[in-house]
Amino acid sequence: MKYVSTRGEAPDLDFADVLLTGLARDGGLYVPGAWPKLSRGEIKELRGRSYADIAVRVMAPFIGGEIPGADFAAMVRETYAGFGHPAVAPLKQIDEGLWLCELFHGPTLAFKDYPLQLVGRLFDHVLSKRGQRVTIVGATSGDTGSAAIEACRDKDSIDIFILHPHGRVTDVQRRQMTTVTSANVHNIAIQGTFDDCQDIVKALFADLPFRDRFGLSAVNSINWARIMAQIVYYFSSALSLGAPDRNVAFSVPTGNFGNVYAAFAAGRLGLPIEKLIVGSNANDILTRFFDSGTMETAGVVPTLSPSMDIQISSNFERLLFEHYRRDGRAVAKVMRRFRKNGRVDFGKARWRAMRKRFEGYRVGDNATKAMIDETYRLTGELLDPHTSIGVAAARSAETGNTPVITMATAHPAKFPRAVEEATGRHPALPPRLADLMEREERMDILPAETRAVADFISGRLAGRPAA
Ligand SMILES: *Cc1c(COP(=O)(O)O)cnc(C)c1O
Repeated sequence: MKYVSTRGEAPDLDFADVLLTGLARDGGLYVPGAWPKLSRGEIKELRGRSYADIAVRVMAPFIGGEIPGADFAAMVRETYAGFGHPAVAPLKQIDEGLWLCELFHGPTLAFKDYPLQLVGRLFDHVLSKRGQRVTIVGATSGDTGSAAIEACRDKDSIDIFILHPHGRVTDVQRRQMTTVTSANVHNIAIQGTFDDCQDIVKALFADLPFRDRFGLSAVNSINWARIMAQIVYYFSSALSLGAPDRNVAFSVPTGNFGNVYAAFAAGRLGLPIEKLIVGSNANDILTRFFDSGTMETAGVVPTLSPSMDIQISSNFERLLFEHYRRDGRAVAKVMRRFRKNGRVDFGKARWRAMRKRFEGYRVGDNATKAMIDETYRLTGELLDPHTSIGVAAARSAETGNTPVITMATAHPAKFPRAVEEATGRHPALPPRLADLMEREERMDILPAETRAVADFISGRLAGRPAA
């Protein structure tokens, strides 16, 4: 399997290099050079199989010959055996024709564990084969840093440094990061804001000698391997409801467009999907685009669903690539225009074609809380605010008799304040995290200065084998 850049200029790469590279050198995102296909018969054979079996079958064509099949299968099994529910991504019916696919049974209680737990193992496997090391450096406003830390902990070829704004994340968020006391995990609390953290990370990546010396890398949401691992639960959940003999629709609370793009990719592989429903909070660039045909940036406003507070949905470029008939130069041109003007049209025909498959709904904070409350009263289920947006969008969409599966992207205990405000109920942490507040913490507090962080990293890595 060869991968190509959405901007058509970067070299084609194999899976292992795409995994380690992340963003393409031309600024594009890597996608498969051709979509593998599963026939209806092949999809039917997956009925009743375990999540790990489905995962191996769905992902194998993307790996090519680069990781031996038996090694890959072993990594997949080990990854999902560690999850907190035997079904890994169980379905729960909450109304007639409406299901939740629970994606919060990983170590940090949010869907990013599903891709990242595997990606951490894939990184370590490829790096140790090559005799290389990397240093992952990232910034978090609180909710996603822990998934990267859990993915990289105790991996021989990886050190991970995660910056968070000191005193500006919740106790649960901080403890999910700082109680991981593995020797290769380094939590840095920055005396500043999340923007300061991000600026420092950007400055470190821009310092090329530093970047090369320590092999800086990221596991961000544009990494193809993350998308690949997310395709699996679209298959497993649709199979449970009768696919491929019955079409399903998915409702996905969306920020960077990575998760819902994985649903689109599942469709390319052959899964019959009737509709993809995109839920947004007040940061509604996608909803406005699906309504008007114009994509236009706006400032980011904070909401109850912080993991969806983004200005530009980076993975949307992968969808554009398909709608520009995989013409990377055309995509590069239109992305340049978007970057320059902050707004762009992709043409009426393309917009119509996208609208055939996608519908977007904006769900503000009040409606988010109202849907948490309504769902609790009707079913006894507590929804986290992100999932609530997905459910609200699913209920707004016109889907007839087609079953709708909403992706439940976080456990309610991850966002207890919003849930409590909406329902008066405090969502409890699941048993395996019940002692989180008692665990030992470890972190270092540093000023919001790039130099201080760079020195800290070199100090910590002194004596480690070179990257
Ligand atoms: C990251 C995240 C999202 C958004 O997913 P994208 O792939 O960025 O669209 C939604 N909900 C939760 C809980 C998340 O952590």
